[in-house]
Amino acid sequence: MNSIKPNHWDNLLAFDQQHVWHPYAKIPNPNPVIGVTKTQGSILTLADGCEVIDGMSSWWAAIHGYNHPFIQQAMHNQIEIMPHIMFGGLTHQPAIELAKRLIHLTPPGLVKVFFSDSGSVAMEVAIKMALQFWISKNKPEKNRLLTVRNGYHGDTFATMATSDPDNGMHHIFNDNLAHHIFAPAPEMGFSIESDNSDIQAFEALLEAHHTSIATVVIEPIAQGAGGMRFYRPDYLNRVRMLCTQYDVLLIIDEIATGFGRTGKLFACEWADIAPDIMCVGKALTGGYMTLAATLCSQTISDTISNGNPGLLMHGPTFMANPLACATAIASIDLLLDSPWQQNIQRIERHLQATLLPLKDIEGVADTRVLGAIGVVELERDDLGPTIQALGIKNGIWLRPFGKLIYTMPAFNIPQTQLTSLINGMIKAIQSTLNAT
Ligand SMILES: *Cc1c(COP(=O)(O)O)cnc(C)c1O
Repeated sequence: MNSIKPNHWDNLLAFDQQHVWHPYAKIPNPNPVIGVTKTQGSILTLADGCEVIDGMSSWWAAIHGYNHPFIQQAMHNQIEIMPHIMFGGLTHQPAIELAKRLIHLTPPGLVKVFFSDSGSVAMEVAIKMALQFWISKNKPEKNRLLTVRNGYHGDTFATMATSDPDNGMHHIFNDNLAHHIFAPAPEMGFSIESDNSDIQAFEALLEAHHTSIATVVIEPIAQGAGGMRFYRPDYLNRVRMLCTQYDVLLIIDEIATGFGRTGKLFACEWADIAPDIMCVGKALTGGYMTLAATLCSQTISDTISNGNPGLLMHGPTFMANPLACATAIASIDLLLDSPWQQNIQRIERHLQATLLPLKDIEGVADTRVLGAIGVVELERDDLGPTIQALGIKNGIWLRPFGKLIYTMPAFNIPQTQLTSLINGMIKAIQSTLNAT
């Protein structure tokens, strides 16, 4: 039941448009935002009473859909006991139990956990760990980062500086950003035979600059907001070997890929590698609370702890928020108790069968699928708003990004809803392309 009448919603939206910032938006926002009154499973109820099927999982996060009773019960229980307590000098069972699970589930050697409140901050902490590691080893000259193009690691200053220099925000903030080293993006394609010129270019940069490089920073297998690109596991494998060979650390950003999205629990498992530092976020709590974590090796924590000043210099106010940690524990347990691999394979097969053939349509530049991620890349970058509006009419929620029309549904989306979601997406793309 929607207790707020539509004309009240007109007032709410008018206030929103004049006073509330939205992601990557201006005020007043010329693109209408849509009121949401309720969520359930993969269904969003909109302010006008219409229901749409969610194709975005709230930006990779809501892997179990919304309002799952198991997670909500865990949240209710934790609210009754202790919603928050500072982490400075104090600890609690949800943080400890969650740290145990993360250490157990992530690749071998990641045995120390730093909790923070968002993905960008987790990446800031990762970069800080890498820099402090070399300072502690009396090699402060190793202070640059090597990354690849088309990356996205967050919106804070250190993470902006490692995101793609062309489609990121470097041109606006150039004077305020650290200048890091960018290798070409890995060649596109999860299962391609490559001539390896991409990894050779990466190695050439390492060879030339390794004495001033602290760490490599990379998203494993699937690059997210920097282009929705998938690359072959062998590339990541060689990145790991080269980092060891040239004595630089490896930070893997699993914030988008972690907790099953690509078909493995963590995408770096495709290459069977272990990084020195790894970040998780987004799906960590199943999208119910904001929480992220940075894991690192024993060597890194020992070196920082035995160095000068001997402390890791970071400590957010809401570090390891107990409600968020309890939510994450419930989400992880729910995931591991579910047939998540089968669910993702089911979604992957459906996306492959329906989206891949669109490649032949005029106006479509590429289509690609990996795990529960489906991408249709158009030739034009200005059709997103039209496709989004048509999607709503077709009963689906998509949030296109430039040329990229993409979906990453909840793993447990019912098959009938998945079918409607993808049919609606294809219809919106086709009629938009036909009209241009
Ligand atoms: C979303 C994202 C981030 C940033 O996380 P926030 O929670 O938005 O700060 C970092 N890296 C990757 C790969 C992401 O997808």
